[in-house]
Amino acid sequence: MEKKCLKGMSREELNVWCSEISESVFRGTQLYEWMYRHGILSFDKMSNMSNQFREYLKKYCFIKTLCVEKILPSKIDTSSKILFRTLDNQLIETVSMVDKSRHTVCISSQVGCALDCSFCETGRMGLKRNLSTGEMVDQLIFVRGHEKQSITNVVFMGMGEPFHNYRNVINAANIFHSSRGFNLAASRITISTAGILPRIQQFIKEKQKYKLAISLNATNDTSRTLIMPVNKKWSLDSLISAGREYSNLKKRQVMFEYVLMKGINDSTDDAHKLSHLLQGIPCKLNIIPYNETNGIFQRPDKETISRFSNILHKNRNEYRVLIRWSKGQDINAGCGQLVWMQE
Ligand code: SAH
Repeated sequence: MEKKCLKGMSREELNVWCSEISESVFRGTQLYEWMYRHGILSFDKMSNMSNQFREYLKKYCFIKTLCVEKILPSKIDTSSKILFRTLDNQLIETVSMVDKSRHTVCISSQVGCALDCSFCETGRMGLKRNLSTGEMVDQLIFVRGHEKQSITNVVFMGMGEPFHNYRNVINAANIFHSSRGFNLAASRITISTAGILPRIQQFIKEKQKYKLAISLNATNDTSRTLIMPVNKKWSLDSLISAGREYSNLKKRQVMFEYVLMKGINDSTDDAHKLSHLLQGIPCKLNIIPYNETNGIFQRPDKETISRFSNILHKNRNEYRVLIRWSKGQDINAGCGQLVWMQE
């Protein structure tokens, strides 16, 4: 009989499952806390379970979905990249970034990605498969056990398009948020999408509490379609409107991301157009200077980056502007640099 994976199950699912196998319902909550609050990876350590139930769990269930393959600490900052192997031999990456009192973990939601954005290395892998909720949770469990500093923020900005794996991502976020799980405030969990409009609308409709980030990366549809084929389906305007709706409804500002690439989207004209597009929208704008990959794109020089962000600063109305320098450049841990090709 195939063993059942408990990692990733919600408290309700665990409770129901316990009653189905004729165990007390509260065992479900105990399992939930052992797995997520305490990060226990062995049933033997679940000291408040009866011997009999522990034997049952060992025989019929498992709770470890990932093995650590490699840990790459950066030599230039306090970030590190972790390479995991899944049980079916897929490789995924997670980035841990410690910055004074902040510890942000960037987790992957898919093996590869189907979107094929031309500036992103992950896209070159194509999509292998979605990650399960358990596989996303195990990334965080490992980092929490490995780093001294407590995790303060989680961003779904690693490999993959989170909104192509909507349900598993939301379920993982729920476990990160739960006071019996990782106990992270909803405002410290950010989901970034390249713009899967129906899922953004679903996210708003379901009143999900997590922070939403939308990757714009261009100021008109023609140039966005050239670098992000997903734009053929859902236009820039429709994404900005959805972002506006999120900010207005939730009193929580949407974040727009803009990867700055030399000669592609970094002109003063682009800066003015972008500030025009964002007028009147309560939002945060993160400008991400392009991180080198094997592609044809380049990072603009420092002057261009400051000129671009200065225009946005000056014209700003309701939005805030931040230049987001990716960490771990020496270990290719920056946005868009996560890729793992099987040999
Ligand atoms: N698929 C999601 C999340 C993963 S990418 C999304 O597109 O939002 C996270 C962020 O990294 C996105 O804003 C993306 O545009 C940006 N990014 C991708 N490749 C990059 C690169 N080479 N340099 C800098 N940022 C990059």
